[in-house]
Amino acid sequence: MMRDIKSMDLEELTQALSELGEPKFRAGQVFTWLHRGAKSFEEMTNLSKQLRARLAAEFTLCPPEVVRKQVSRTDGTIKYLWRLCDGNCVESVVMRYHHGNTVCISSEVGCAMGCAFCASTRGGLVRRLTAGEMVDQVLFSQLDSGLPISNIVLMGIGEPLDNFENVRKFLLLINHPQGMHIGMRHISLSTCGLVPRIRQLAEEDLQLTLSVSLHAPTDAVRSTIMPVNKAYPVSELMAACRDYCQKTGRRISFEYAMIRGVNDSLEQAQALAALLQGMLAHVNLIPLNDVAESPLKPSTRQQVAAFQQALTEKGITATVRRTLGSDIDASCGQLRRKYESKEA
Ligand code: SAH
Repeated sequence: MMRDIKSMDLEELTQALSELGEPKFRAGQVFTWLHRGAKSFEEMTNLSKQLRARLAAEFTLCPPEVVRKQVSRTDGTIKYLWRLCDGNCVESVVMRYHHGNTVCISSEVGCAMGCAFCASTRGGLVRRLTAGEMVDQVLFSQLDSGLPISNIVLMGIGEPLDNFENVRKFLLLINHPQGMHIGMRHISLSTCGLVPRIRQLAEEDLQLTLSVSLHAPTDAVRSTIMPVNKAYPVSELMAACRDYCQKTGRRISFEYAMIRGVNDSLEQAQALAALLQGMLAHVNLIPLNDVAESPLKPSTRQQVAAFQQALTEKGITATVRRTLGSDIDASCGQLRRKYESKEA
């Protein structure tokens, strides 16, 4: 079987190349080419022709193709639809923030989690992405857009902790000094709440920011919008979050999509504040984005503001997430793995 070279770390590459009789420094050369965006072995001109041919025979190198690129007229947000090697497609979004350009990447083709408000889970999970496919979303978003990427959020299609090993490998590759060298503190990973995997991530003790999609403070409401809550109820999730903060010393960011009449009452704000009391936490309020198949509606601006104030009064820091790229369906929960029929 041909090996996927883009998903290999420097040690694995060194080992594989030494098996081909190559000296140690060769791996660094190849790694550098790969992480600068070489699309074929042919481009690696400081390697001999024979070696390039040998690599092409031993390894697959298959960068994603841009199927569609949309640029928001309101804020310059860019959404890419990529075609992967096997024909599957995923989306990534490049956002321009004052603190730097951020790319939101997908971790899976589709998603198995079934959240009621999210477009990415329609049609279920097709497959998990490789580490290399995640690296390529960052790398080729930067190369195609010409915008230097300084931050990454794993908040696109898929549940990153459902693809734990490949995501862990991706983090290692993207953080590597000879690769894109993006600092862990510039990376956020969002999960719907897979408790055992949150505990496993805590063991890795990384300096990234963990975001938890909470969306409701009680099991009664959370279970109706997030099936994962039936497996890992709020109390177990919060226990894992508290342990995570303790182990890593990092603050958790809780995402809360505000859905009119479902999770936006002031009693729910009180319950949320009580849940987070004494924790190293931050709440990110997201007015629900429109998803064609879902009847759920966003809370009004006044309700979002009142909810935020109720949290602040209890000493919980809460911010309202700015919505970027809504004119191109590039906002939270709007990413999809294929074209939609409304497409011209
Ligand atoms: N599976 C992970 C990663 C996805 S991140 C997770 O669930 O966290 C995408 C974020 O957008 C999550 O917080 C998700 O709950 C939220 N989201 C999904 N659909 C949304 C919508 N219609 N409006 C606002 N936020 C939404």
